[in-house]
Amino acid sequence: MSIVTNRSPFANEPFVDFKLEENRIAMEKAIAKAKEALNAEYPLHIGAEKIYTEAKIQSRNPGNLDEVVGYVSKANRELAEKAMQAALAAFETWKKVPAADRAEYLFKAAKRLRERKHEFSATMILESGKNYAEADADTAEAIDFLEYYAREMIRLSRINEAQPLTAVAGEDNKLRYIPLGVGIVIPPWNFPLAICVGMTSAAVVSGNTVVLKPASTTPVIAHMFVELMEEIGLPPGVINYLPGSGAEVGDYLTGHPRTRFVSFTGSKEVGLHISRLAAETAPGQIWIKRLVAEMGGKDGIVVDETADLDAAAQAIVASAFGFQGQKCSAGSRAFIVEAVYDQVVEKVAALTKRLAIGLPEENYAAGPVIDETSFRRILDYIEIGKSEGRLLVGGGKAEGNGYYIQPTVFADVDGKARIMQEEIFGPVLAIGKAKDWREAIALYNDTEFGLTGSFFSRDEARIEEALDTMHCGNLYVNRKCTGALVGAHPFGGFNMSGTDSKAGGHDYLLQFTQAKALSVKK
Ligand code: NAP
Ligand code: MG
Repeated sequence: MSIVTNRSPFANEPFVDFKLEENRIAMEKAIAKAKEALNAEYPLHIGAEKIYTEAKIQSRNPGNLDEVVGYVSKANRELAEKAMQAALAAFETWKKVPAADRAEYLFKAAKRLRERKHEFSATMILESGKNYAEADADTAEAIDFLEYYAREMIRLSRINEAQPLTAVAGEDNKLRYIPLGVGIVIPPWNFPLAICVGMTSAAVVSGNTVVLKPASTTPVIAHMFVELMEEIGLPPGVINYLPGSGAEVGDYLTGHPRTRFVSFTGSKEVGLHISRLAAETAPGQIWIKRLVAEMGGKDGIVVDETADLDAAAQAIVASAFGFQGQKCSAGSRAFIVEAVYDQVVEKVAALTKRLAIGLPEENYAAGPVIDETSFRRILDYIEIGKSEGRLLVGGGKAEGNGYYIQPTVFADVDGKARIMQEEIFGPVLAIGKAKDWREAIALYNDTEFGLTGSFFSRDEARIEEALDTMHCGNLYVNRKCTGALVGAHPFGGFNMSGTDSKAGGHDYLLQFTQAKALSVKK
């Protein structure tokens, strides 16, 4: 019996309930343990070598600036070239490993990650400023990606299952999905485990080898993942861990003639830069580089007068302020119809005022933003907001030895205002008034982005129309616009939100493979 038939169908990893004391205590212990590793030094992983460089990236706890989570070795171009060579060498053997065996590495990694769940979440709490539930959801999603992509690779490798072919008399026809080559994986810091694991494992299970350049603000949690893959026996050189400056090693690797694909998740600006650079052909390059680029969002929630207004207000607040609004799916805009505008605005303001701000390790609802650059950018936008709308809640920085900002709500904001159009990526919500639900949808659609959205209504006909007309990759009805689940909500956006790669869906691995049609005359 093959490995495959023993596997249960994919199911999402359950979330931990931190209202239960035992779970809260387990997390507190994990955080105490993670603190023992503060100030540790981390090497690059290139092939089988661990390289400590003199130059280091300092990863600080954004919630307590006195704590350094780790000193992480920092690559330059020479080391980037060495990583490329290691990945190229490993590709020659890794591409021949059967798909089911490659999948087995992911299944093993998922099992280990599940066993060490709180350890990984605790490190994220310290390194990225997530509270318990946000960190736990991140770890759960990482487990989901491993379990899901392992099953997906097995499905794709079963001849005639992923893509049945039309029978032709006298011929034996097959379609086989083969890997591309060496990929550069560039994740963001905001889902520092889940997105890093998802992007890396998808590329690797498809038979590619990668150079992983983690985000410079969260390299320690990425290192934990790389170590875990080593622990479960993934051959050296399949994942090469290469922290470094995006501008220096990122550009070098994107422009490299042997780079076969770039898998990027991050801002629109960097995504477009990579897109331009990857489109050029370096001397000796014999392919068009493939680019998967998942970028920013200016997501929103539309509320009509038939909606459950309490549920709508709760969803608006959860979508706007979960992880301080630092999600590509964050609902940073809300459009409410005139008839219920004042009521909903009041409810949103009341719920927002209840969000307590404080240390992530003490599990406050609202924690810090990621770094000083973000902190300053968000405060600048709040100042802009003061001239573009009516400040209802928050409006500045908050107390604490870190990058704390008050959850901030502006009402009566025009659809063309900067805080309605530009991604702020922080705890800032802009609310606009519409004369009716169709105008609210038009305001929602007036954006260059198109990642997530949500429509609140009890009217079936309106819901049907909203499902057709709200233009985004992930549209929800009567629920928040964050919290996509692997397998259930394949994720990716339209327009300037990216290439709509649909992470956690059946289409995702196709982007890391190429299909070879084999026709043998009988
Ligand atoms: P970012 O500044 O664009 O950085 C993303 C990654 O790109 C980081 O690893 C960064 O490295 C790297 N990078 C920077 N310049 C580069 C270059 N020239 N070449 C190659 N790599 C380069 O984004 P972020 O601040 O980490 O993340 C927030 C953004 O991600 C938001 O816009 C958010 O909406 C988006 N996001 C989108 C999705 C989605 O699925 N659509 C999911 C999550 C986040 P350094 O850290 O070293 O600069
Ligand atoms: Mg950044």
